[in-house]
Amino acid sequence: FEAILRKLIEKTRDLMKSEAGVIILFRPDRTKSFLSTDKLIDEQFIKDMLSVDSGGLARIIAEQKPIRNNNVPIPLSNGNEISNFIALSLHSTTDLQCLLIMLNRDAGFSREDEDSFLNFAFQAFQTISLQSELAKLATTDGLTGLHNHRVFQDRLSEEILRAERYKSKLFLLIIDIDHFKSFNDACGHQTGDGVLKAIARIIKGNIRKVDFPARYGGEEFVVILPESDRGDAHKVAERIREAVMTYPFYLNDGSKAVLTVSIGGSCFPEDATGKEDLIRKADKALYYAKNQGRNRVSLYMDILEHGKL
Ligand code: GH3
Ligand code: MG
Ligand code: MG
Repeated sequence: FEAILRKLIEKTRDLMKSEAGVIILFRPDRTKSFLSTDKLIDEQFIKDMLSVDSGGLARIIAEQKPIRNNNVPIPLSNGNEISNFIALSLHSTTDLQCLLIMLNRDAGFSREDEDSFLNFAFQAFQTISLQSELAKLATTDGLTGLHNHRVFQDRLSEEILRAERYKSKLFLLIIDIDHFKSFNDACGHQTGDGVLKAIARIIKGNIRKVDFPARYGGEEFVVILPESDRGDAHKVAERIREAVMTYPFYLNDGSKAVLTVSIGGSCFPEDATGKEDLIRKADKALYYAKNQGRNRVSLYMDILEHGKL
């Protein structure tokens, strides 16, 4: 997405024949990104700029009106200064917001510049935002909001390459709900879907930022744990298992149900030579956990060590 935004800055800069362009991106989760076509335009510069024209930039964010400032010198870190800028706040229907700023050292911006800036930037930003939303839909599981199977496969390939390159270990966990068919039969598919959503949230809430959760299939989830050892993997898996076991799943009639999951884990490169093998070994460990009575975690390396396979 940021690569496309960078293109937007460059295209706008070329269209306006300006010397440099900047985008400050505000995401719905309140994080900010800063993109610029010129390395002299850094975050300090933007801070300076905001202090030169504090009311102005704040106003365009609030009112979505462009501002055009000519001959207002703002110092650059190399000692030069930029005196002319035109800035516009852009909102998309997908809840993204950004501040697009074009800058010139000497030449001022005209009224016509402002018009073409407005016309081009609004259209382009809307198109870009919709495209990024579409891309997100194609990679997200509709029910749970987790990454879908396809993205998981791609990510696992990447993480395996990374682990090979940096000689690190990764773990793969497969999480399967216990006796979920009977639950669906007893409580209905829709209630079952609610359980899947809740478990997705539980998984997300019990992993590290670097871990990668996905919906693997119907009632199976996976988590990739990069740079992890046996202890990390066991801890994360146990945390998820316990959190599910103690979670009050409310049914339609107001009563509470207890659900449990079984978790199988495998390690690259310790247990497996490649991706398919790693998935197969995690699945074997899961099968073992199911056979041992469910509601438990088993790691492939542990079952092997105990000669239990
Ligand atoms: P086990 O403890 O051995 O895992 O038993 P299980 O019944 O969970 O396993 P099994 O694989 O036999 O059945 C999976 C069930 O998961 C079948 C179906 O009822 C349910 N399921 C799969 N996908 C969905 C879904 O998207 N929504 C709902 N509500 N249920 C689903
Ligand atoms: Mg299953
Ligand atoms: Mg199951």
